[in-house]
Amino acid sequence: MSGEYDVAVVGGGLLGSAIAWGLGRLGKSVAVLDEGDIAKRASRANFALVWVQSKGLGMPAYTVWTVRASEAWGQLASELKQQSGLDVCLQQNGGFHLTLGEDEFGQRSELVTRMHNQAGAADYRMEMLSASEVRKSLPLIGPEVSGGSYCPLDGHVNSLRTFRAFHTGFKAFGIDYFPDRPVTAITKSGGEFRLTTPAGEIRAGKIVLAAGNANQTLAPMVGLHAPMGPTRGQIVVTERTVPFLPHPLTTIRQSDEGTVMIGDSKEEELDDRALKHSISAVMADRAQRMFPHLARLNVVRSWAGIRVMPQDGFPIYDQSETHPGAFVACCHSGVTLASNHAFDVARMVAQGSLERELVGAFSASRFGGASGANAGC
Ligand SMILES: Cc1cc2nc3c(=O)[nH]c(=O)nc-3n(C[C@H](O)[C@H](O)[C@H](O)COP(=O)(O)OP(=O)(O)OC[C@H]3O[C@@H](n4cnc5c(N)ncnc54)[C@H](O)[C@@H]3O)c2cc1C
Repeated sequence: MSGEYDVAVVGGGLLGSAIAWGLGRLGKSVAVLDEGDIAKRASRANFALVWVQSKGLGMPAYTVWTVRASEAWGQLASELKQQSGLDVCLQQNGGFHLTLGEDEFGQRSELVTRMHNQAGAADYRMEMLSASEVRKSLPLIGPEVSGGSYCPLDGHVNSLRTFRAFHTGFKAFGIDYFPDRPVTAITKSGGEFRLTTPAGEIRAGKIVLAAGNANQTLAPMVGLHAPMGPTRGQIVVTERTVPFLPHPLTTIRQSDEGTVMIGDSKEEELDDRALKHSISAVMADRAQRMFPHLARLNVVRSWAGIRVMPQDGFPIYDQSETHPGAFVACCHSGVTLASNHAFDVARMVAQGSLERELVGAFSASRFGGASGANAGC
């Protein structure tokens, strides 16, 4: 250990937490530096899908990475339960994307065909189903549902409990979590990184930048590049109701606690303290056209969250050439990819180099400008 810690992880959202947990699991000494309670965190605002279908159009490697995550989630859920006693309620019995009317059905069919035809893509086994075929699995759909796509690899989880389970695991692994320690500067000297925070300096042999959209500002401090283009999403939650939805949908899921979550919009606005009721109204209207009985439920909560979104929508995993030992990780779909972050990314960081397959596909060098590193081992 060349510093106070083997690894300092900057950012304590789902990405930083999964990677730190994975490093602790491998016996590394880890510090997690985070902002305070009112920080913007996508990890507390998401829709909690472990979702495969329709991810990766335009980047076949992302389809492979997503399928791998879906397949490894069972192991993650079981290790977290064994360690923390928390059941993250992973359900992976397939998910639907429903369409309303013939135009939407046609557009979705086209997407499914394009996904199938993409060279080098993983086999999602995604298929289009007619309304009567959908009704066999989801008997309560309304008459406007024209059908939809189905993928057996899709599922959902209790993402807040997953977040909590990682943090519970920190204690078991001896990981030091420091809230209220925003990193303001990073330097490297004498083989170790020095991270400046308002409450003092932390030293570490390696660093992982997992600060969500703030990676855009932090990455250049260590010769990395993370161009971000965040968007906002709104979610509406109903009161609890009897179980009626045995599979999650892209925009509707019934949580393990019985509430119905309806989401999620994509907006340019980046204020997560304001809600647009006109947007919630559209989401709620579509939901009750898909399942008419939802119209009888009361809405009990609604919120907006800011998505961590690399500029082209695909994940960034990179390592620095100028500052060896510095890594950056950011993506949308941090719930889905949590298993890969905990197992694969953590293993590569512990080894000191991202594997060729990962950095070859996901390096920020694809954006041009300051680039990350060459493929590692
Ligand atoms: C509405 C919505 C719906 C979503 N639905 C899904 C879904 O269904 N499935 C799915 O897989 N994903 C979903 N996501 C995405 C998922 O939530 C994110 O990919 C994931 O939470 C990103 O985690 P993160 O740790 O990168 O970022 P964040 O949760 O934003 O955390 C970043 C952390 O970095 C800290 N930080 C920032 N700057 C600094 C600094 N200088 N020093 C120290 N710490 C710093 C912040 O305080 C914060 O804690 C959704 C997101 C939204 C908003």
